[in-house]
Amino acid sequence: MDRRHFIKTGAAGALGLTLGVRETEAKPKESKTPLEVKGHVKEPARRIPVVDSADVVIVGGGPAGFAAAVAAAREGCDVLLLEREYFLGGLFTGCGVTPIINMYHLLEDGSGKQAVFGIAEELCRRLDKVGMLSKENIRPKVDPEAAKYFMEAFCAESGVRILYGVQATQVTRSGDAIESVILEGKSGRVAVRCRFVIDASGDGDVLEWTGEDFTVYKNDIGAMWRIGNAENSGKGSPTPVKGVRTRHTVGEKDQDGLDMYNLTRIQLGLRKMMWEEVEGLRKIAGNEDLYLVDTPTVVGVRITRVLNSVGNVTTEGAATGKVYRDVIGVTGGDSNLKYNGGKILRKDRKIWQIPYSSITPKHVPNLLVAGRCFGFEKELTYDAREIGTCLMTGQAAGVAASIAVSRRQSCRDINVPDLQAKLRAQNVRWDV
Ligand SMILES: Cc1cc2nc3c(=O)[nH]c(=O)nc-3n(C[C@H](O)[C@H](O)[C@H](O)COP(=O)(O)OP(=O)(O)OC[C@H]3O[C@@H](n4cnc5c(N)ncnc54)[C@H](O)[C@@H]3O)c2cc1C
Repeated sequence: MDRRHFIKTGAAGALGLTLGVRETEAKPKESKTPLEVKGHVKEPARRIPVVDSADVVIVGGGPAGFAAAVAAAREGCDVLLLEREYFLGGLFTGCGVTPIINMYHLLEDGSGKQAVFGIAEELCRRLDKVGMLSKENIRPKVDPEAAKYFMEAFCAESGVRILYGVQATQVTRSGDAIESVILEGKSGRVAVRCRFVIDASGDGDVLEWTGEDFTVYKNDIGAMWRIGNAENSGKGSPTPVKGVRTRHTVGEKDQDGLDMYNLTRIQLGLRKMMWEEVEGLRKIAGNEDLYLVDTPTVVGVRITRVLNSVGNVTTEGAATGKVYRDVIGVTGGDSNLKYNGGKILRKDRKIWQIPYSSITPKHVPNLLVAGRCFGFEKELTYDAREIGTCLMTGQAAGVAASIAVSRRQSCRDINVPDLQAKLRAQNVRWDV
């Protein structure tokens, strides 16, 4: 059987629990834009040079893409991690979002119980060792520059190949499977061949290009930013670096994170607001030396495209702590949750499970989704995209991709007990 046919059909006789969903054809759509269209131009067909290949190509090096890359490489895959910026961490390090929410679960007495282990825990340990981790309530809070450094170190140690400064823009297909990812950077428009893709773009870019099933959510677009010499300012919250504090601007409500004009407008407005606020603070006696450490390099979009997966996590599942046969990890409950017409307070939340079905698309056979664009119901928007959860879904996607690649199976046909065993061997836990 040739590789293409194998990817398309999967191994029907796989033993044990698989998702058991047969492939249906993904419908290619004309690329949509939220902008007002003022006409069309025709791009001439052209041959794209193939410059690289990898077992697993990961689009996006945020917390999810980072964890996915390291997890897949540790399972022996050749991994290429594509990132448009020149650092890892996405919003985590590029928008100063450094309290890792959902890694710990809030208990009634106010203490925290660790829920996310695996790569998230390893990263925190390394940061703690060099004094670059503090705690904000139950949340580990890290220094973004230290996090960038250690995320790159993890990639180097596990053999992940990083390619910076490249925006993935499209895929080519072989049947339903993705054959290559097209990217643009300073070397032009080129393609990399792949056996498997993980969409960790945060915005579900690959879902758009493949015609996968997704929904677009809107939410607040804001920022986290840092001020220095700010001990006495009474503003923001402390970080591991003396005198540096983070400020959180929730931002404008219900914004479209796929409209580039809107994003530019918001980013311009936020930067002006930050500058003026710092100028104002410096006029207060005792704060003369306060300064703006940085403004976000990654615009603070909370949510856009979300996968309509084989089985989205439901609000009921998260609220009741539902046990899934295809569990791939758990995540803490660290925010209030609207449920059943009421609200479950943070302190009354349960640790909740994430099933493999929620990172699995319905159509494309060699794709998984990790991070803030995996499949969950809208009420979970604040919860499901927290960094603890992104690191967890990323690690699971990386391990699952390695199985699909090594056994030449569709993402929907891999043996779930085998996936769970490999995840446990990578110190992922759900028995917490
Ligand atoms: C203002 C704000 C405050 C927040 N506060 C917290 C908090 O306190 N604690 C917490 O846990 N979470 C918080 N979050 C949420 C959290 O930061 C994100 O949900 C999380 O970082 C998402 O991780 P991700 O890997 O899915 O995506 P992202 O962090 O968005 O990373 C995606 C990466 O992919 C890259 N990329 C995207 N498209 C492409 C492409 N086509 N080609 C190449 N590269 C691409 C991006 O450059 C980026 O590096 C906050 C978010 C915001 C906006």
